[in-house]
Amino acid sequence: MGDKRVALVTGASRGIGAACAAELTRQNLDVVGCSRSGELQGDCSDPEVCKSWVAQTIERYGRLDVLVNNAGVTRDTLLMRMTDEQFDEVLRVNLYGAFYLCRAALKYILKSPAGRIINIASVSGLAGNAGQCNYAASKAGLVGLTKSLSKEVGKRGVTVNAVAPGWIATDMTEAVPEEAATRVLERVTLERAGKPEEIAAAVGFLASEQASYITGQVLSVDGGLAL
Ligand code: NAP
Repeated sequence: MGDKRVALVTGASRGIGAACAAELTRQNLDVVGCSRSGELQGDCSDPEVCKSWVAQTIERYGRLDVLVNNAGVTRDTLLMRMTDEQFDEVLRVNLYGAFYLCRAALKYILKSPAGRIINIASVSGLAGNAGQCNYAASKAGLVGLTKSLSKEVGKRGVTVNAVAPGWIATDMTEAVPEEAATRVLERVTLERAGKPEEIAAAVGFLASEQASYITGQVLSVDGGLAL
């Protein structure tokens, strides 16, 4: 086992995940990025893929200390029009994916002197958002998973927290029609979109030694959107 801590970040190919991977690298961790198009490729809604990402990380580095469940998708539409597929896909990627990764990674994270799990939730999962019943349900589920798992592993010194971003400039928000984007931005206290690096800073903090007494928490990084 090497001396450096090792992190696995899902959805690291772009946006918030890429910024998290860069921040953890800056903090001197070895980082493995996983996504459909990234370093380790695959779909996190497949439990076998999640197992193999963890196995490949252990094969390469011999340890796993930090898991960042960041991969996520939206399939926005009003509930009356939402198909089974749209509901299912969002739940499978955003919530089941995190569950599969936590389950596969936990036995290694429990051996870490400073194990950390950080789940990327959303302000939508806390406050709800019209057109996002599937997405908000997946993110609210992630918050429940975070709090429950923190209680399962606390006695082993592992912390489990969530970060809830507001409106962050990435491909995900770029795809939202301008009128809807303007309506959200008008509600942001700081009167601007967030940057992926501003979410990564919170993730970096929660992964660090300074956050050793914080667990089961949801840290909103939303410029005051949900106030
Ligand atoms: P993004 O730019 O669309 O990036 C999403 C990432 O997830 C990509 O790396 C993508 O890579 C990966 N991904 C998507 N489906 C996947 C799958 N089935 N298996 C593995 N990887 C998959 O989105 P983002 O804005 O950075 O969002 C990152 C996280 O923050 C998400 O969980 C999102 O819900 C959350 N969030 C974002 C905002 C925002 O305003 N942007 C707000 C609140 C919460 P590939 O396409 O290569 O697979």
